[in-house]
Amino acid sequence: MSTPSTYDIIVIGAGPAGQKAAVQGAKAGKRVALIERERGIGGSCVYRGTIPSKTLRESALQLDRLKRAGEVFQFSLKPDMHIATLLSRLEQVVQAHDSFMSQQLRRNGISLLHGRAHFLNDHTIEMQTVDGAQQQLTAGTIVVGTGSRPRSPQEIPVDHEHILDSDSLLSMMYLPQSLTVIGGGVIGCEYASIFALLGVEVTLIDRAPYPLQFMDRELVDQFVQGLEQCGSHYRGECQITQVRWDQVAHVLTTLHDGTVVKSEKMLVALGRQANIEDLGLEAAGVTVSDKGLIPVNQYCQTNIEHIYAVGDMVSGPALASKAMEQGRRAVRHALNLPVGDAASTIPLGIYTIPEMASIGLDEKSARERYKDPLIGRAKFEEVARAQISGASHGLLKMVADPDGDRLLGVQIVGDSATELVHLGQLALQSSATVESFIDNVFNFPTYAETYRIAALDILGQVAKRRAAKAA
Ligand SMILES: Cc1cc2nc3c(=O)[nH]c(=O)nc-3n(C[C@H](O)[C@H](O)[C@H](O)COP(=O)(O)OP(=O)(O)OC[C@H]3O[C@@H](n4cnc5c(N)ncnc54)[C@H](O)[C@@H]3O)c2cc1C
Repeated sequence: MSTPSTYDIIVIGAGPAGQKAAVQGAKAGKRVALIERERGIGGSCVYRGTIPSKTLRESALQLDRLKRAGEVFQFSLKPDMHIATLLSRLEQVVQAHDSFMSQQLRRNGISLLHGRAHFLNDHTIEMQTVDGAQQQLTAGTIVVGTGSRPRSPQEIPVDHEHILDSDSLLSMMYLPQSLTVIGGGVIGCEYASIFALLGVEVTLIDRAPYPLQFMDRELVDQFVQGLEQCGSHYRGECQITQVRWDQVAHVLTTLHDGTVVKSEKMLVALGRQANIEDLGLEAAGVTVSDKGLIPVNQYCQTNIEHIYAVGDMVSGPALASKAMEQGRRAVRHALNLPVGDAASTIPLGIYTIPEMASIGLDEKSARERYKDPLIGRAKFEEVARAQISGASHGLLKMVADPDGDRLLGVQIVGDSATELVHLGQLALQSSATVESFIDNVFNFPTYAETYRIAALDILGQVAKRRAAKAA
C-alpha cells in the first residue's frame, strides 16, 4: 500500500451536508478531499428525495391549474398516465444541479474522489473504488455526511414493485388508480398530497390521531381538508396488522379493527435510518446512539473532537437545508471561524399541498413557556394576492409574548408558505417587534401582507387586554 495522501479536511459523502462542508473548508484555504461512493454528486436529495419529489409536485400543481381553468380549455388527464411524463423536467433539473455543483467543487480546488470510505482509525480513511482499488487518506479533521435511507420495517414486505419506499416510488411506470401511504410524517404527507392532486385515490394511514404531529394543529387540519377535497382520506389511530400483495392487482392492508384497505400500490414512509454500517466508526472510536444515529454537540462534533457528523445521520429534522447548515457549521468550528447562531432558527418547510412552514415557537410551545401568549391570525382570503391566484385557502399565525411586543414564532399554511416564512425568520433573528410589521409598507398585492394583518390582530388583542385591565 502506498503512503496515505494527506489533507487538512476529509469529507465523506457528497450530499448537501458534505458538499457545503467541503466548500466551506476550501474557501478557508484548506486542502479538502470529498469522497462519494456514487457516480453523481448531490446525495439522496438530488436523486431520490427533494428534487424528484418537488419536480413531481410542480407537475401536479401545473395540471391542477389547467384543470381549474377547465371552463376556458377542455382539459383532462390521459388514463394510464406515465410517471416519466410527469417527471420530464427531472433530468434537466438534476443535470443542471450536477454541473453547477461539479463546477463549484472544481473552482474551489476540492479533490472529488469516487469510492466507498471507511475509517481505519480516527485520522485515517480507506477508500475502495468500484474496480477494487484501495487508497488511504489522512486528515486532521474528518466530516461524516453519509446521509440516510428509507427504514424498512420487517413486517412490511417492500418489493419495490407493488409495495414501494420513497427511493423506489417514482420508478412506477404508470400513475396508479389508488395508493395507500403508511406513515404521516413529512415524506408520507408530501407524496400523499401530490398523488391526491394528480387524481389518485390516496389513503394515508398513521398510528397518531392526526399526521405531522410536530406541526401546529390548525395548519395540519387544512392539509387534511385539502386531501379530503381531492377524494382522498386520512385514517388516524390505526395499527396495521398485515400488508400483502394479492398476487393479482392489489396491495391489501389489514388494520387492527379488521378493515382491509385495498390499493393498487403502497408507499411505506416510516422514517429513515442513517447510513453508518460500513463506516467502521468503531475503529475511530465514534459513538452511535441506540437509534442508530451519531450523537453530536451544537457544533456537530462527535465524541471524538476532530470528527464531525452532519445531515441526516444526526438527529432531525432530516432536511437538506439543515444538512447544508450543519456542513458549514462543522467546518467553521473546526477551523475556529465564527459559527453564528443560525442553527437556533432553522425554518421548517413542508412541501405538502397546501405547503406549510414554521419558524420559532408555535402556539402550543408558546403556551407551555409563556402562560398567555398572543396569537395573531391572517387568513389568505383577506389578501388580494390570494384571491387573484385562486389560492385563498391559507393561514398565517403570528405568535407573540403576552404583552404583544416580541415576536416568538410564525406558522404558515398555503401557497408560498415556504418562501414567506423567511420574512418571519429574519424578523426573529433581528428581534423585531410585532409593531414593526405595521410600520412597514408591503407590496400590493402580496402574500406578505398577511404579516401585517396578523400583527394588527395581535395589537388589537393587546388593546383589549389593556382596556379589560383598566376597567
Ligand atoms: C422524498 C423526499 C423528499 C424530501 N424533500 C425535502 C425537501 O423538500 N426539503 C428538504 O430540505 N429536504 C428534503 N428531503 C430531505 C433531504 O433529501 C435530506 O435531508 C438530505 O438529502 C440529507 O443530506 P445529507 O447530505 O445528510 O445526506 P444524503 O443526501 O443522503 O447524502 C449522503 C451521501 O453520502 C454518500 N455515502 C454514503 N455512504 C458513503 C460511504 N461509505 N462512502 C462514500 N460516500 C458515501 C451517499 O452516496 C450520498 O451521496 C427529502 C427527502 C426525501 C427522501
